[in-house]
Amino acid sequence: MKVTVFGIGYVGLVQAAVLAEVGHDVMCIDVDETKVEKLKKGEIPIYEPGLAPLVTKNYEEGRLRFSADPRVGVEHGVIQFIAVGTPPDEDGSADLKYVTAVARTIAEHMSSHKVILDKSTVPVGTADKVRAVIREVLNARGVDITFDVVSNPEFLKEGAAVADCRRPERIVVGTDNPEVEAWLRELYEPFNRNHDRMIVMDIRSAELTKYAANCMLATKISFMNEIANLAEYLGADIEKVRQGIGSDSRIGYHFIYAGCGYGGSCFPKDVQALIRTAEQVGYTPRLLRAVEDINNDQKLKLPQYISRHFGEDLRGKTFALWGLSFKPNTDDMREASSRILMEELWKRGAMVQAYDPEAMNEAQRIYGHRDDLRLMGTKEAALQKADALVICTEWQSFRAPDLDAIKQALRQPVIFDGRNLYDPERMYKRGFAYYAIGRGASL
Ligand code: NAD
Repeated sequence: MKVTVFGIGYVGLVQAAVLAEVGHDVMCIDVDETKVEKLKKGEIPIYEPGLAPLVTKNYEEGRLRFSADPRVGVEHGVIQFIAVGTPPDEDGSADLKYVTAVARTIAEHMSSHKVILDKSTVPVGTADKVRAVIREVLNARGVDITFDVVSNPEFLKEGAAVADCRRPERIVVGTDNPEVEAWLRELYEPFNRNHDRMIVMDIRSAELTKYAANCMLATKISFMNEIANLAEYLGADIEKVRQGIGSDSRIGYHFIYAGCGYGGSCFPKDVQALIRTAEQVGYTPRLLRAVEDINNDQKLKLPQYISRHFGEDLRGKTFALWGLSFKPNTDDMREASSRILMEELWKRGAMVQAYDPEAMNEAQRIYGHRDDLRLMGTKEAALQKADALVICTEWQSFRAPDLDAIKQALRQPVIFDGRNLYDPERMYKRGFAYYAIGRGASL
């Protein structure tokens, strides 16, 4: 099938590459001409495991193309994906300006029936807005062309985006048109062979499903962080508690790790957006507000431990930081806990020596050159002559470090672990002051 994808970001590029791989003819459009040019030269603008070879292969074989010309995109596909960003507005609600801009573009150039699929995470009622924008433009053009707007939220996880798109756990489709459902069954058939993963529902329910999913996951994390904070007061160990409750099949082991807060481009903004949606319709979202508050506070846990150990004034101190991305296997630093940590340390006069396996360029892009940030080439280099080690991301390569080498490199054997990677008892025995999240016995 001929498919157009507007927005070549984490969602758009991965989805486009995976659709091309199964044989669809995919045209990707982005307003960012530099990104388009880079892709044409084989440079992949983001890091996702498995993405680069998939993009290169399908580009070379002609099933995946890139352009900054929206006209080309609108002409190409009967199916038009909207996969642009929906960042938070000033008040936290989802800003739909990019989504409506794409809707307008499609309406300006379309000359035949189009099925417009909304992959971006958008508030309930957005499909109606997209429809209204398209109608308005078509009316102004004085043409009468039919079109459908479908909600098709994306559930991929950054860091596993290619695998998630190739084998989705579910494909949620919000439509009231059985003909459109048939089109989408054909589009997604290659991903739907083992069993039917397509869950078809009305558009508003599909739009809400995406927010409900992300808010549920964020709730699990904030719940565990609340119990972890309590465990510190009570002298209990959240890691033991986690295993204790995870063994209940109704609870399960997934997504119940305590830590220094969730980040990324989705959870913080989607929790905020659902809070605003609730407020706009006159409902008080008490649980969601608590989820957000707990997470904001949790990002300050490591700076608080650092104050407890070193005092408030950190002038003359250097901190080794392992992990900049908001989670492993991605270079994405949007809303990452590491950013709050670094900014707190800088406020108090400290120097940061940071290392991340993938996010170094991103850190450079965000912070540029500053005297109080050194981006180091290896995790070992980051440790040299630092007063303590701080861990913000649970990359595999941080899980079994050479503790003796860490001890030797640091000025003092102190570790602030925001991801609970090590056994506190072992760390004490090896002579470390070890601060982790919710491991009461360790404080
Ligand atoms: P992103 O910021 O990585 O990419 C968005 C792209 O859209 C950018 O390249 C931007 O230049 C482009 N763009 C903006 N306006 C455009 C226009 N008018 N025409 C063409 N391109 C345009 O965003 P993302 O992380 O891929 O997220 C996209 C949407 O998917 C968001 O709504 C997000 O909430 C949702 N989502 C993201 C994830 C994730 O893990 N990143 C997962 C599920 C859903």
